[in-house]
This record gives sequence, structure tokens and C-alpha cells, in this order.
Amino acid sequence: MALVLTVIRLTGGIVDTAAYVLPVLCPVLIAFPFSFHTFWQREKLKVAHAELTHAHAQLAAAHKRLSEKASRDEMTGMLNRENFFAALDGSRRKTDRGALLIIDADHFKQINDSFGHLTGDQALLQIAAAITRGVRSGDILGRIGGEEFGAFLVGATNDEAKLVAERIRSEVEALRFQPNDERSVPLTVSIGGTTCKSEANVSELMKSADKRLYEAKRRGRNRAIFDTGVPEAA
Ligand code: GH3
Ligand code: MG
Ligand code: MG
Repeated sequence: MALVLTVIRLTGGIVDTAAYVLPVLCPVLIAFPFSFHTFWQREKLKVAHAELTHAHAQLAAAHKRLSEKASRDEMTGMLNRENFFAALDGSRRKTDRGALLIIDADHFKQINDSFGHLTGDQALLQIAAAITRGVRSGDILGRIGGEEFGAFLVGATNDEAKLVAERIRSEVEALRFQPNDERSVPLTVSIGGTTCKSEANVSELMKSADKRLYEAKRRGRNRAIFDTGVPEAA
């Protein structure tokens, strides 16, 4: 108001009632809508921020689901080859203890040849389920080839690994696979196993387990053979 009165006086104007009322009335009239507008904008910003946070969380969840899906074998839900070895490597970095099993379906080509590839897929699913039942929670499972699976038994000793391998072998043997609802067809697996040595890396473990698997096949299949070279079952 002092400013308005000074300006009026300096410019030779008349200081009347309006000169006192207007400097009070105008700011009040302007302040109300302006404050309301500012308040409204802030509320809108708050809502937009909440929406953005929600969208961000949804995106992160979708990303997690996608990368989880990409790391798994579509048919069995087990880790795919690449991620199985990555998980194995991760586990090896945390602890030296553990055992690797390579599990290969026996004479699987015959199943496909006799009943077709789709029926073969059903057999593979049953084998994968039997393997899953055989391991302990916390163990790492992967489909590392067409009819070949990997199981990394985290923290397992040689004796524990032999028990798990035998459980897997017998779970598969006990399956009653009935293509076309006819007689059941026997399904078996051969297993090569190796217990971790502290200095062994993933490819050395694979090589060692692979060697035992080859031996299990050579000795007649449907058996597990470990580093010691002693047949465990059949
Ligand atoms: P072995 O006991 O020596 O392992 O004999 P095998 O017949 O199992 O071994 P081979 O390597 O000769 O054949 C593997 C078969 O597994 C051939 C291939 O068509 C089949 N197979 C691999 N992946 C799949 C799959 O995803 N679905 C089906 N149905 N068959 C598959
Ligand atoms: Mg096979
Ligand atoms: Mg094979």
C-alpha cells in the first residue's frame, strides 16, 4: 500500500478510498485462485508420482519374470544349460562342498522311434519330475541336453550324493509310463557323479561326471557310478 500511495503521489494522482482499498483487495483476489492452482498442481504431481512408482514396480516385476523365464527350459521348467552352469559356478564360489550328477535317459531314441516324438516328450517330463522328487530342496537342477539332466547337490558329501543318485535312479525306474494307455514301457536313467574337490572348476567337474556316466552306460545302464568307479545300483 505504501508503494501505491507513493506512486500516486509522485505521479500527481489523487489519494482516495480506492487508493487504500485496491492494494489490499487485488492481492487477496489474486492470491486465492493462485494458491488453489498451486495446490491443485501439487496434488496432480503427487498422483503422477504414485502412478510412476507403480509403473516402475510393474516393469521391474515383468523384467524379473522375463529373465526368470529366459533362464529356464520351457518344457521341464528346470534351468537351461547355460544357467545351470552359471548357478553351479555361483554355488562353487560360496562353498567347496557339493556333488555333480549327470543323468541321461537310457535308450531314449527307442522311445521316440516306437511311439513318436510327442510321446517321447511326455516320457521326458515324467523323468524330469522323478529327478525333481529325488533331489533335496536347495539342490540345483538343469536340463543340459535333450534327454540329459544335471543335478548339483549343494553341500553334499560323497555318501549323501550316492543316496540322492540312487533315489533318482529308483524314482525313474518306478515310473509306470503308459503311452496310448497300453502296457507300461520301462524308463531308466544312467547317472555319472563326482564330488567336488576344492580346486576343481565347473568344466573339470563336468568332465569327471561325464566319464562316470559313460562308464554307467557301458556297464549296462540303469545305474549310478561315482568317482570311485564303484557301481552304486542296478
Ligand atoms: P543311451 O542310453 O546311450 O543314452 O541311448 P539314447 O538313445 O538315449 O541316446 P542317443 O544319444 O542315441 O539318443 C538320444 C535321443 O533323445 C535322440 C533324441 O531324439 C532324443 N531326444 C532329445 N531331446 C528330446 C526331446 O526334447 N524330446 C524327445 N521326444 N526326444 C528327445
Ligand atoms: Mg540317452
Ligand atoms: Mg544323451
